[in-house]
Amino acid sequence: MKEFNINTLVRKNILELQPYISFRDNNEFENPVLLDANESPFGELNRYPDSTQKELKQKLSEIKNISASQIAVGNGSDELIDLIIKVFCEPKKDSILMMNPSFAMYGFYASINENKVIKLDLNENFEIVKDDFLTISNDFKSKIFFLCSPNNPTGNSIEDIEFYIQNFKGIVVVDEAYIEFSGKKSCTELLDKYPNLIVLQTFSKAWGMAGTRVGIAYSSQEIIKLINTVKAPYNVNSLSLNKIVEIISKQEVVNSNIKNTLNEIAWLKNEFQSVKCIKKIYPTDANFFLIEFENVEKIYEKLLENEILTSKRSPQIPNCIRINVGNREENTQLIQVLKQCQTL
Ligand SMILES: *Cc1c(COP(=O)(O)O)cnc(C)c1O
Repeated sequence: MKEFNINTLVRKNILELQPYISFRDNNEFENPVLLDANESPFGELNRYPDSTQKELKQKLSEIKNISASQIAVGNGSDELIDLIIKVFCEPKKDSILMMNPSFAMYGFYASINENKVIKLDLNENFEIVKDDFLTISNDFKSKIFFLCSPNNPTGNSIEDIEFYIQNFKGIVVVDEAYIEFSGKKSCTELLDKYPNLIVLQTFSKAWGMAGTRVGIAYSSQEIIKLINTVKAPYNVNSLSLNKIVEIISKQEVVNSNIKNTLNEIAWLKNEFQSVKCIKKIYPTDANFFLIEFENVEKIYEKLLENEILTSKRSPQIPNCIRINVGNREENTQLIQVLKQCQTL
């Protein structure tokens, strides 16, 4: 990636855009009188949140051993997906590349800007076929490749991710929403090596903080600067920021969430053995299963009748439902209903 120049990939108007800079958040004061932002002097949440999310970045920087200048904070990683597309993809002109099947939101945010969505079909084990990747990325010259690992909704990790980062002539976004469950190494280790890499992580899954809407992007200083340029200044509210700052030092919280989840994954896997309508359980590195059923429509309806909500992936993934692990009580209910389905 020697001749890599980020500026050739960025939209021209974004390169020229002046970021909104909060004077207050970018200078140090001891005991300031705040008359600069038309806030109310009264109330509990009367002040705007820190637009630079200093404290959270500082903590993440220590934990992950990545410079704070290489971290962007989003209103969920969803917002970061949207912002990354805004930075690089010229509306109506550029395209994104994504795996198929994969997380629908990449295509969703691209389509809003009328960016074409190019789909790289995975093989029967939901792996990328390298030759297909090389051909399709050469044909369409997409600006961004969204690589989700472990992949949603298939559950498997993608092997040899470095190959795709090396061989893609644009930005590679590795979405690691489920990485904590997989025991695999994060691609943040590759950041120094590849200036075209963005790694996304989230507090929504293993951390159990989906309600706060906080996601993180790790990348080069240049790319992080661009993401910060296009984001709404106060994109993450102070209640959420405080909650995350509070929980982030408690590694034991996430560790116990992961342990319990993996425990339930193992328990369910075992229970599934005696459910006859299951045809195939795909291997998973995440907190959910992709399962192929006999009679998928009836099974899905039966689960719904019992107010058990799952994610039907059929017909895109034929006969499949994605089911995430719950607590033991919820998983027991799931198994009970599935066993009633034997006779369907
Ligand atoms: C759940 C999920 C996310 C998380 O999105 P947030 O906006 O951070 O809640 C991101 N990517 C994938 C693939 C997911 O499944």
